Amino acid sequence: MNIGVLSRNRNLYSTRRLVEAAKSRGHEVRVIDVLKCFMNITANDPDVFYQNRENNVEELSFDAVIPRIGASITNYGCAVLRQFEVANTYSINESIAITRSRDKLRAHQLLARRGIGQPITSYASSARATNHLIESVGGAPLIVKLTQSTQGNGVLLAETKKAAEALINAFRGVGSDFLVQEFIKEAGGSDIRCFVVGDKVIAAMQRKAAKGEYRSNLHRGGVAEVVKLNSAERKLAVDAARVMGLDMAGVDILRSAHGPLVIEVNSSPGLEGIENASGVDVAGKIIQYIESDVLRGPNKPKGK
Ligand code: ADP
Ligand code: GLU
Repeated sequence: MNIGVLSRNRNLYSTRRLVEAAKSRGHEVRVIDVLKCFMNITANDPDVFYQNRENNVEELSFDAVIPRIGASITNYGCAVLRQFEVANTYSINESIAITRSRDKLRAHQLLARRGIGQPITSYASSARATNHLIESVGGAPLIVKLTQSTQGNGVLLAETKKAAEALINAFRGVGSDFLVQEFIKEAGGSDIRCFVVGDKVIAAMQRKAAKGEYRSNLHRGGVAEVVKLNSAERKLAVDAARVMGLDMAGVDILRSAHGPLVIEVNSSPGLEGIENASGVDVAGKIIQYIESDVLRGPNKPKGK
């Protein structure tokens, strides 16, 4: 196959591993920076053009693409990916599914509709609703989360009702979109990253927050270790990825007193932490999955 990895940086661990795995399985592979792509969206023959390293413009054609679209370029990245889809190119994750998962509010609503367990989550835009928001998630301590947060940057713990009110008002003041969420204390600063490919969890790791921190993101000093999932956790992760319509997803789960809860579904899950912690050849499994899935044909319906 001829595979395109849509990534801004060929030196990133995840990008390098996908290229390596594709080559070692006998495929041709190129890394494409979506910001260097352009397209004529009304052409009869929909194509994606690319300004290559020699500054020449070429038409791109792939049997399959692997989107690794960073949160900062979701819009343009998804537009380019959509153009590949219009041209009937297979993508392991389709643009619509990536868009769904990037907006935490939308993702929570879709997951809730399908009965996927999540922490109690509320959302409002009116300032008068502050009290109600706080009460609806069971009061403080609670989590306030920017809907576009990544790497734990927009996730804040309010220990008291006063702190919660102040945080909510501050976010409102700067016009940021946020969710208010039940704080799952018993997770003890740990979460579980389930790496889902197709309908399987192919690797999992537990991330433990650094001392004094409640966010377990590896970028915030969290440490990763292997973890054994039970069948309810596996099912939850696969179901969550399915609802979003993602064939490759990093589903983050908290172990709560009332069972596993999904906090996030990532459409470009990083490979470094999970390959190192689990010892699984995640990149190889992704390429293998694409090989079998491409045979099902492009633009297969995903998500609901
Ligand atoms: P981001 O996308 O910015 O990483 P997450 O929603 O994944 O945001 O949250 C970051 C981290 O914060 C999680 O990995 C988890 O450790 C912690 N966390 C998030 N939500 C909750 C919650 N409701 N209760 C307890 N801890 C949480
Ligand atoms: N890009 C990584 C992901 O989406 C980072 C998220 C994280 O901090 O765990 O999985």
